[in-house]
Amino acid sequence: MTGSLAASDLSVRYETPHGAVHALRHVDIEAHPGEVIGIVGESGCGKSTLVTALANLLPANARIDGSISYNGVDLAKLDAYHQRLLRGDEIALVSQDPMTAFNPVLTIGDQLVDFQHHRKDLGRAQKRARIAAMLGRVGIADAERRMQSYPHELSGGMRQRVAIAAALLTDPGLLIADEPTTALDVTMEAQIIHLLRELRRDYNGIIIVVSHHLGVIAELCDRVYVMYAGEVVEGGEVDAIFHDARHPYTQALLACDPARFHERLDRLPTIPGSLPNLTQPPSGCVYAPRCDRAFAPCTTVAPPLAKLAAAHVARCHAVTP
Ligand code: ATP
Ligand code: MG
Repeated sequence: MTGSLAASDLSVRYETPHGAVHALRHVDIEAHPGEVIGIVGESGCGKSTLVTALANLLPANARIDGSISYNGVDLAKLDAYHQRLLRGDEIALVSQDPMTAFNPVLTIGDQLVDFQHHRKDLGRAQKRARIAAMLGRVGIADAERRMQSYPHELSGGMRQRVAIAAALLTDPGLLIADEPTTALDVTMEAQIIHLLRELRRDYNGIIIVVSHHLGVIAELCDRVYVMYAGEVVEGGEVDAIFHDARHPYTQALLACDPARFHERLDRLPTIPGSLPNLTQPPSGCVYAPRCDRAFAPCTTVAPPLAKLAAAHVARCHAVTP
């Protein structure tokens, strides 16, 4: 099954002894079958919180408001059993640390058999054949031998491939990869990007890629959402974001991208200032304290998400359609 995904007015807060952390605030996103969506923003801006909410894997101290629908069904209205069914198999998350996806004491082969628990029509031998084929598809040549390995015996890049294979074995309509290349060196990173590019050719579901690395997003995605301090501040087609960014934060993020500098710099430019305290988010625009274009209303009135073109939106008082 493939379907469209829509999150609307989605907010998540984490309850902590120091108060509630407002990690996600009033986020609207949508994605359609065949699309690759990028989520980009600085560390701590809520990217993992957003995708973990979509996959229904938020920790126990998280409180969620707003709605998430998949294939026209409001997921909050499903009973717990159908939620688990949909979000375990139909919506698959490859998490930021692939090691956490695996049980250290079971072989890769045994774990990948378990990932196919929904395929009651297949016997163990058929499941193992499916695994071997899937490992081949993610670029693991000696699949039979690798199935005998334990997770710690694989390199980081190989673990990430296996995690992607594991997610694909559930036949998901929505595949989410949270920072799929962050833990890897440059060569491995290029290989995983190549793999994701290959996958998108014959996959007709939705792929969501989370990264703070602009190059990864530019290479893989059709549409991009830029997040800042728990909000989506700009969204649009990849060309619009990279060549006609309108929000001052997106512009600043692009200006700091190391790929723009052909010579090696001793110090990369950074955006002055730091993320606001998410236990007390500012009442106006979240970016105003760091924005060189801020004017009177910015510090008191939160800007709405304005539509600039068909798919291009930005949340900024200084940007007009
Ligand atoms: P990174 O790029 O570093 O992965 P991110 O954009 O994925 O960052 P999140 O992990 O979603 O950001 O975190 C958003 C905010 O929520 C941060 O301030 C973080 O400290 C906080 N946070 C995340 N998980 C929890 C939790 N379980 N309890 C309390 N606060 C949390
Ligand atoms: Mg994260």
